[in-house]
Amino acid sequence: MRFPFFFPTALLLFIAAACTESKAPPIQHDYAATRITDRVYVIHGPDQNPSKENQGFINNPGFVLVRNGVVVVDPGSSVQVGEMVLGKIAAITRDPVIAVFNTHFHGDHWLGNQAIKAAYPKAVIYAHPRMVVAIKGGKGDNWVKLMNDATQGATRGTVAVAPDLGLDNEESLKLHGTTFRLYHNDRAHTDNDLMVDVVEEGVLFLGDNVRNKSISAGFPEHGSIKGQIDAIGMALKSKATHFIPGHGQSGGREIALNQLQFLVALRASVKKYYDQNMSDFEMKDKVMADLATYKDWVFFNNLGRVINAVYLQIETETF
Ligand SMILES: [Zn+2]
Repeated sequence: MRFPFFFPTALLLFIAAACTESKAPPIQHDYAATRITDRVYVIHGPDQNPSKENQGFINNPGFVLVRNGVVVVDPGSSVQVGEMVLGKIAAITRDPVIAVFNTHFHGDHWLGNQAIKAAYPKAVIYAHPRMVVAIKGGKGDNWVKLMNDATQGATRGTVAVAPDLGLDNEESLKLHGTTFRLYHNDRAHTDNDLMVDVVEEGVLFLGDNVRNKSISAGFPEHGSIKGQIDAIGMALKSKATHFIPGHGQSGGREIALNQLQFLVALRASVKKYYDQNMSDFEMKDKVMADLATYKDWVFFNNLGRVINAVYLQIETETF
C-alpha cells in the first residue's frame, strides 16, 4: 500500500508539535552519589547558573538511609533532576522514599519534589512554614518558568509540587529511627531557610545559608546578611562534623567558617564606605578590592548585586 507523499510530512509535523509539549529528556551527564557517611550520600551538582548544558542541575541533593526507608534533602531543580536522584537511590537501596526536606523556596532546590511524589505518593515533604504558604499560594510557577527559560526548555514537563508540612527552628523529627533537627533564623539567605541536622550521622545540610567558596549572587535581595551571619552561628553550634553546602563541595566546619568570615568582611566593607557617604555604585570596586582574597570564589564577578543588596539593608537599619 502506498501513502500519498504528503502524509509522512504531516505525521512528522504532528510528532514535532507533540514533542514541544512533552517532557524534556533525562539528565545526560552521570553525576556521582558521594558517600559522606555510611548512611548519607550527596550528589554534588556543578556550581553554575542553570543552563541548557547543565539542564538546570546545579544544587547538592542528598539522601539519608533510615530504617526501611530513605529521606531526601533538596531533590533539585526539575522533574528530570528528581528522577536522576531516584535513580541514584535505586542503585543503593530498594527501600522507598518516606520523606523529603526542602531547605528553601529557590527553585533549584525543590522542583524535583514532583518526581519523588510521582514515585512515592506517601512521602511527606517538609519545609519551613513560610515556604509551604508561598508555594501552596502559587509562587512555585515563577520558579518553574525561570528554570525552563534559563535552560532553554531542558526542564520542560516540570510542575510545582508544594511541600506538605511546615517545620520551624529547633523542631526535631524522628523518622524510622533517625533524628532530623531543624534550624531556622528568620531572614537569612531567604526568609524560609531550614538547615537539616542528621543528628546520629553528624551531618548538617546547610541549604544556601552556606555555599562552598561561591558567591550567592542570584537573589541577594531575598536575604539579610545579618540574619545569614547569625544562621551560620547556629549551624556552628551543631555537633555535626560533615557540612553539606547548598552549592559546591561538601567538607567540614571550615566551609561554614569561610562563609561566615566572607559575610563579616563584606558587611564591614560596605558599612565603611556607606559611612563615608558613598553610593553602592561608587563603592563597588573598593569593596571588591577589600575582598580580593575571595577573588577565586565562584561568581565573584557578580558581587555587585550582593553589594547593592547589603547597601540597602544597611540603609534600612540606619533609618
Ligand atoms: Zn538559594
